[in-house]
Parts: sequence; C-alpha cells; structure tokens
Amino acid sequence: MNLIFLGPPGVGKGTQAKLICDYFDIIHLSTGDMLRTEINNESDIGKTAKSFIDQGALVPDEVLLDIIDSRLSDSNIQNGYLLDGFPRTIPQAEGLNDILKNNSQKLDAVVSLTANENELIERLIKRGRDSGRSDDTPEIIKQRQEVYWKQTSPLVNFYNDEKLLKEIDGIGEINEIKNRILEALN
Ligand code: AMP
Repeated sequence: MNLIFLGPPGVGKGTQAKLICDYFDIIHLSTGDMLRTEINNESDIGKTAKSFIDQGALVPDEVLLDIIDSRLSDSNIQNGYLLDGFPRTIPQAEGLNDILKNNSQKLDAVVSLTANENELIERLIKRGRDSGRSDDTPEIIKQRQEVYWKQTSPLVNFYNDEKLLKEIDGIGEINEIKNRILEALN
C-alpha cells in the first residue's frame, strides 16, 4: 500500500498518518520530520532548508525530489509507505511520477484531509505554545497557510484527474477521522 496524505497545516495530517501507518504496517515518510533531522544534524541540506522553513516558505523542489528519490529506492519500503507532506507542488508531483516509474511502483490512493481555515489557524497557535517548533508562531502559521492554498492545493485536482483522490473531512475525534480514512481506503 503506497499512500500520499495531503492537507493544510494543522489539519492533523501527522497524527492520522502515524495511525494509518500502524494499521497497514507501512513506513511513515514525513518530509517535514526529515528536514528537521537534517537541521538538527547541521548537514548541508539542513542549512539550506532552515532559511526556508523559518520563513514558512517551501524548500526548493530539487532538494525534496533528491530526498524522496533516495528514500523510495530503499529496501525498507517494500511493504509500502505513506508520504506525509510530500508532494507540495505540481513539479514535485510530476517528479514523483518519474521516480515511481523508475522504481516500478504505483500509488494506491491520495488522502486529502479538509478543514476550515480559521479553525486550523486556532489549532496551530495552540500547538505552537507547546511544540517548540520555530515555524509555529502566528505570523509564520498564516504564511504557511497561504503557501498551502497557493502552491499545494492544486494537487487536489492533479490527483483527482489521476483518479486517486479520497477527500476526507478532517474535523472530529481522532478515532472517528481514522475510521473515515480506513473506510475510504477499503
Ligand atoms: P511540515 O512538518 O510537513 O509542516 O513541514 C515543515 C516545513 O518543512 C514546511 O513549512 C516547509 O518549509 C518544509 N517542507 C516539508 N515538506 C516539504 C516539501 N515537500 N516541499 C517543500 N518544503 C517542504
């Protein structure tokens, strides 16, 4: 099972991604987590990524495509994977299609979690108080929302055209949302 999770910042994508990965016993590939690890390790990728992340902007497509290319050729993904936070732009989605083809892999579904923007901003400001993430300040949160609507939301149509899209209401109890996702996937 190879999945993509799409959704605006704060919709609970990461939480649901972990639950769905446990359920199907597949690997969770969160590009946000990978970039934060690179930053903690003070690697070259980390140094490049930090300046973009701290402004709430997207890290350049080539950087992400290189990371994903190497992760999807790793043998540990044989049982499947869930891409969380990737792709985030049309060029990333097109690049991903090339990577999949080269590795003889295909996507089974793209889950798009939806929610109202004001609710999301409120949730993120709350999370920012306890997460310690440098990009969870109110100003950067608004910027990340804008980036999502401008650069990432066109992927909903992209994957709808590919007949892979499953739109799921992301508002409700954690377990309720998980069940909605599982129902859509089965
Ligand atoms: P996330 O944890 O998914 O919210 O990602 C945190 C930040 O990492 C984002 O605001 C971006 O700056 C960067 N990032 C993560 N994934 C990507 C991606 N696929 N393309 C570009 N930037 C990304």
